[in-house]
Amino acid sequence: MPELPEMEAWRRRLDEPVRAFPIAKAGPAHVATLKTFDPPLAALEGRRFEGARRRAKRLYFPTDDGELVLLVHLMTAGRLKYLTAGEKGPKSPAFRLEFQGGAQFVLTEAGSKKRAGVWLLTPEQLEGELGHLGPEALGLGAEALGEICAREPRRLHSLLRDQRVIAGIGRAWANEILHHARLSPYALARDLSREQVERLAEAIDVELERGLELRERGANDKRTYRVHDKLHEPCYVCGTPIARVDFEEHTIYYCPDCQTGGRVLKDRRLSRLLR
Ligand SMILES: [Zn+2]
Repeated sequence: MPELPEMEAWRRRLDEPVRAFPIAKAGPAHVATLKTFDPPLAALEGRRFEGARRRAKRLYFPTDDGELVLLVHLMTAGRLKYLTAGEKGPKSPAFRLEFQGGAQFVLTEAGSKKRAGVWLLTPEQLEGELGHLGPEALGLGAEALGEICAREPRRLHSLLRDQRVIAGIGRAWANEILHHARLSPYALARDLSREQVERLAEAIDVELERGLELRERGANDKRTYRVHDKLHEPCYVCGTPIARVDFEEHTIYYCPDCQTGGRVLKDRRLSRLLR
């Protein structure tokens, strides 16, 4: 799933083009993709977006009259494309928006499961829709992170991914961040020392900034990640082969030398714990 660096790179790319022209036609949308029916999509027609905004892993586009907001959540397989006038696009995207002059903004989703979503909301409804999210991960800082950790008896990998606690990090960047911070994915947040909290706060910023810079230059997953999905490849710090462990419904990648003092982590799959 695209996380903060990926979505922020998208936001920067879309910010200018989406406000270049008023909207000529909004829709059609796949019945599973469009999550709202009132106001209808046609209410966008003739209006202009004031730009692209981001909150956590979601993008949203407010109209410049302040009345409507288009919210987009890509989930795992959704992708956005901005097509200039005349550029060929997918035949039946999950959602299509056409601007005056012919440029298009399309959302596609690979696979048969339609999980990505589009919402057309009023600004008040948007607040309700995003209200459960915790503070943004980028720029969170050691003080705020320290307060969060102090009240959380949870394991770091799971804590970092919880959007209600810290917004914008998913499983890939949680792997990168914890490796950078030299912390075990299984470490309990409440047990961190002050120095470890500071290291984690710094790792969040450094890694998310690194990801954003790479994604803005169009780097793919293989070039962007150094730990995530790198099973058996040498750790970029110490050369130890990267290890993998199943935790809850996720697969974690880590360096047993840099992060766990040589210990190999045991599987803690949710299905096994529930048995
Ligand atoms: Zn290492």
